[in-house]
Amino acid sequence: MNYLRISPVFRETGGLERETNKVTISPLREMGAGMARRHIAIIGSGPAGYYTAEAAQKQFGDDVRVDIFDCMPVPYGLIRFGVAPDHQSIKGVSRRYEKTALTENVRFVGNVTIGKDVSIEELRGLYDAVVLATGAPKDRELGISGEELANVYGSACFVGWYNGHPQFADLDPDLSGRTAVVIGMGNVALDVARILSKTPAEFEGSDIVAHALDMLRESRVERIILLGRRGPHQIMMTPKELGELGKLERAAPHVARGDLPDEEDDAILEPGLRKSVTLLRQFAAIPEDIRAEKPIAVEFAFFAQPVALHGDGKVEAIEIEQTELVRGRAVGTGRRAKLPCDLVVSCIGYRTSPIPGVPFDERAGRFANDEGRILPGLYCVGWARRGPSGTIGTNRPDGSVVIEQVAEDIASGVLGPSGKKGREGFDELAADRQLDIVTFRDWKKIEEAEERAAREGAPREKFVDIEKMIRASQEGD
Ligand code: NAP
Repeated sequence: MNYLRISPVFRETGGLERETNKVTISPLREMGAGMARRHIAIIGSGPAGYYTAEAAQKQFGDDVRVDIFDCMPVPYGLIRFGVAPDHQSIKGVSRRYEKTALTENVRFVGNVTIGKDVSIEELRGLYDAVVLATGAPKDRELGISGEELANVYGSACFVGWYNGHPQFADLDPDLSGRTAVVIGMGNVALDVARILSKTPAEFEGSDIVAHALDMLRESRVERIILLGRRGPHQIMMTPKELGELGKLERAAPHVARGDLPDEEDDAILEPGLRKSVTLLRQFAAIPEDIRAEKPIAVEFAFFAQPVALHGDGKVEAIEIEQTELVRGRAVGTGRRAKLPCDLVVSCIGYRTSPIPGVPFDERAGRFANDEGRILPGLYCVGWARRGPSGTIGTNRPDGSVVIEQVAEDIASGVLGPSGKKGREGFDELAADRQLDIVTFRDWKKIEEAEERAAREGAPREKFVDIEKMIRASQEGD
């Protein structure tokens, strides 16, 4: 399909100046001689990390010891710092990870940064297998001029800010302007648009951090433009998440009928996307007077790619170029328009952080790997393996696959005989270096302190400062 429609943003500026294929592998003890205990280090305690630990337990039972490292003193990665604070039911999956964490053969080793406190080479010397489950915590860059202007953020920073990530707690975005542009048409863009739209009352029951709630309470944003470089048939938004946009107290979705392709064209879409497009059609059918009752407009601008950001120190406008689809790709038409705006959040995907000594695929923004294998005994899983796509549940089969690879590599001799020191060796190294390790038991103390500090109706008030987390973890010691 190759259609070109003019989004309202162009019209308005008049601006056109132009369970995986599971292989059953026997527990180690059934695999022949010399099957002494094996040691696995998992780097990253998010969904990919815990599903991998769970799979290791299933495959190897008591014949394995798993250490899950995290640079944070708190576990669960994306669940704590990425999943939207008003999506508590999704965050509930951490209870499953806790079951794994509390078993004898798995332990959490928090507050240890791999590549700084201990190198990958050292870990490879200590453990039979090292699995990188570090996710994709860095923003992909837009690569346009003006990206460095104030009040322009990538979603990792912005989401980290409202989710209390210590690195972004001081972000202090300026929400005093009227117009926010959210770049991207995926679920993260939806999260950001929704968080910017909600009333304080709508955050009841969420664990949005106090500093963000206070600033959102004072927010003057009343126009949120979701900018998509392709069309309605190419959105990456899933129906449940898109549907939430139609149920907000003070914000209404604005979709221009003229932007939507002919309805019969929806027949070729896969069912999930078809549902999302049907929702866009429902949004487009909302009568203008009903929409006008809500003071915040969330506008969908299709076929518009960002080409520059303008401003004197702080962003004042975004320059966009109309696009058309050519063999599924967005191609600029040369028609440009400038939209005044006060805040820009770019939600265009993430990159994995490189680790010294680990081959990295710069173009793809993840570890260079062959279906999860990086080097003998070094593997990756989840977003660090496949890039930032899929749901939390996608990481479960991923974890099983990587553990099957570990088992195969043990069986084929790639990993050599057992006899690595594992956690005992790491503990010696940590004692030598005086690393301040946070255990799962310590984390439970942090968790209890956060629950005690919760405002009424909220599950917790997160610490947003690493020192405070560590202090809480040492309470009563
Ligand atoms: P995503 O689904 O890949 O969406 C990224 C969006 O950014 C796409 O619309 C993409 O457009 C656009 N984009 C990429 N590069 C661009 C550029 N240079 N200029 C303009 N637009 C650009 O990524 P995401 O929203 O970050 O989500 C990541 C993953 O987390 C997804 O699997 C998502 O479903 C999941 N997630 C799920 C939930 C949930 O279930 N509640 C919540 C949040 C995230 P093109 O399609 O044209 O490339």
